[in-house]
Amino acid sequence: MSILEIEAKSLLRRHKRIDSWFVSRYGLNQYRGCTHNCAYCDGRAECYYVEGEFGRDISVKTNSADLLRRELDPACKRKPLPRGFIMLGGGVGDSYQPVEVKYRLTRGLLGVVRDFDWPVHLLTKSVLVERDLDLLTAINHQSRALVSFSLSTINDDLAVRFEPGVPSLSERLAALKRLHEAGISGGVFLMPVIPHVSDLPEQITEAVAAIKAAGADFIIFGGMTLKDGRQKQYFLDVLKKYNSDLLKHYDKLYGHDKWGSARSDYYQEINIAFINAARDNQIPVRIPQSFFDSLIDEKDKIVVLLDQMDYLLKMDGKSSPYSYGAWTISQLKGEVPTDMGELIKLKGVGPVTARIVQEIQRTGTSRYYQKLLGCM
Ligand code: SF4
Repeated sequence: MSILEIEAKSLLRRHKRIDSWFVSRYGLNQYRGCTHNCAYCDGRAECYYVEGEFGRDISVKTNSADLLRRELDPACKRKPLPRGFIMLGGGVGDSYQPVEVKYRLTRGLLGVVRDFDWPVHLLTKSVLVERDLDLLTAINHQSRALVSFSLSTINDDLAVRFEPGVPSLSERLAALKRLHEAGISGGVFLMPVIPHVSDLPEQITEAVAAIKAAGADFIIFGGMTLKDGRQKQYFLDVLKKYNSDLLKHYDKLYGHDKWGSARSDYYQEINIAFINAARDNQIPVRIPQSFFDSLIDEKDKIVVLLDQMDYLLKMDGKSSPYSYGAWTISQLKGEVPTDMGELIKLKGVGPVTARIVQEIQRTGTSRYYQKLLGCM
């Protein structure tokens, strides 16, 4: 393992539009590379330009907290940054991978987030996050701290093979429960489930029930992508050691598009298994509105609600016009118009979507959105 200490020039990344999966407006990477070394990690793909051998080598941005302080401090800005959740984790390195014990960069970042009173969403595979319960509690009292765990299976034996560097599943779910008891909300990103390894309907059902029992407030589900190159090669090597008979399925499942997508009928199949399990266990499949309602601006709220409606409809096998409208609204430079005539001039916004937008502007939510959630 090698650690490269670097002084970065900037840290905070503002997304081009709010990320409806995480409800985050901003992301950052204090570490590049991750010794958790999950077999399927997307961060391994060449398009993220992570130097060195992924899983062994890490770049550590030692000045992360100073940079974030400068980037969030209103006194250093000509225009204040729009409010929204800052996402810590995911991407190309877990915020609580082992090196955090020594460098404490994530702890430093949370201190800055607390000082400037921003909401934060943390996604991790490590129980080390509990070390920072004091800061998370302080942030949660001021605005909101969400802590989510990610996992690809609830079978500890499978996790050891495919997520070799992380605490066991039982430890992660126990940590989720303790955080929940301490007043910190959060969910589980059950993603990616691994084709022919952890994606059978009964495995998904079992996972959803276990996650619900651990006290998760929501489950976000997703299948695996495999980008050609370093990510696919590494994963297939691990899979081969686990069970070489499975390789033949992957040839049929994965094409060569730049996102590394599997066949859409495969995703549909596992989504149905997930939605059925989520319904049986009555657990939200998107981040509930109450968690972000007062913490994001009106435009972002409209975008997230339309995106969530789009997801819920598609999960039910129905068509949806809401994604296009959400995208157009997310790209508006100014405020979202309130006038029907102006709204329907926007691409992808027909009269139905426009009425929903107006209702959100008037009441803060949409009855149709609530109805779709109620069907879950
Ligand atoms: S914990 Fe996340 S970032 Fe780290 S290797 Fe696993 S999937 Fe990649």
